[in-house]
Amino acid sequence: MMPPLAAPRHVYVHVPFCRRRCSYCDFAIAVRRTVPVREFIDSLAREIEIRYPDQPPRDIDTLYFGGGTPSSLGGDGVAGLLDRLRARFRFDDRAEVTLEANPDDVTAESASAWRAAGVNRLSIGAQSFDARVLAWMHRTHSADQIERAVTAARAAGIHNLSLDLIFALPASLGRDWDDDVRRALALDPAHLSLYGLTVEPATPLARWRERRLVQEAPDDVYEREFLAADETLAASGFEHYEVSNYARPGSRARHNSSYWRHVAYDGFGPSAHSFDARRRRWNDREFAEWSRRLAAGGDPCAGDEVLTQEDVDTERIYLGLRTSDGVDMAQPDLSVDAAMLDRWVASGWAVRDETGLRLTPRGWLRLDALATDLTALSSHS
Ligand code: SF4
Repeated sequence: MMPPLAAPRHVYVHVPFCRRRCSYCDFAIAVRRTVPVREFIDSLAREIEIRYPDQPPRDIDTLYFGGGTPSSLGGDGVAGLLDRLRARFRFDDRAEVTLEANPDDVTAESASAWRAAGVNRLSIGAQSFDARVLAWMHRTHSADQIERAVTAARAAGIHNLSLDLIFALPASLGRDWDDDVRRALALDPAHLSLYGLTVEPATPLARWRERRLVQEAPDDVYEREFLAADETLAASGFEHYEVSNYARPGSRARHNSSYWRHVAYDGFGPSAHSFDARRRRWNDREFAEWSRRLAAGGDPCAGDEVLTQEDVDTERIYLGLRTSDGVDMAQPDLSVDAAMLDRWVASGWAVRDETGLRLTPRGWLRLDALATDLTALSSHS
């Protein structure tokens, strides 16, 4: 068994269950009509026990339930899970405790139970307010349910709300992106995550494309919708602080920001990754295999790696470029091609100031290519 990682202050729990697979989704999920709540909670508690056998409860700053659909555990399920986690992790209301939720799971009862159990932030998978689009995506909720979910969360005392939306959909859907952004803003969320649609292998969407039933949006549509949303949200007071994320001042996602700052985090549940700033490990992807190995008393680790200094530097550059904090160009291993950076600035892709280099929204549209160019410049002994 790999030795336990140093104890991080950020904890991720992967809850893999979904009622059906969304057309674009390639996440590690387990499609279940009935969620095996008890089995999941027991397995998760066992994983913590096996990986940290003698460790007293430790303090953490953020706890994030992602998936999958964590809200499918219901009010009592999430409360039961948090109860077990509190035996090993100490956190109070100053900690950020986020639950990813599908709108159809958020009711007055479930939201009250989540709030009472310690959840203080919901990340709601809205995706669109257009009924035709939601059906095409295989979403299990309606536009009305998004609005009702927001109302129920607030009534229960959960005010730190984030909404996810997907842009760059096929033109054949006739989706009005600007209208979806407006409807999301009308709900006054503290945070928004916007993701461009990509066709991942082995998804229903990939099969539709193979059969020529659907055509991806071209690059210029992707660019237009990304920049239009950026403009609307900036005018509404949102900070575009990471390539896909916008927040009202003071409402940035603290848990996800720990990933972008390259600090240590611990992950539990199928497919979850853990990182101690040098080593990374990841769990079995499938729920059944993860659960089986734990029941047999084993660590469900599926792989691990130790990052070289070069890996660490490369990841830091890439993560820096993703965020509005940018990259510190004074770091010792980074040699600078001034002409290349001048070209980026002249093209409107980046800005340079005394604190370093930051990409603009136009630069973020070319993130992978620019990150590759910049990391090629870093020199390592
Ligand atoms: S609800 Fe989320 S995790 Fe589940 S299938 Fe849909 S996109 Fe994937």
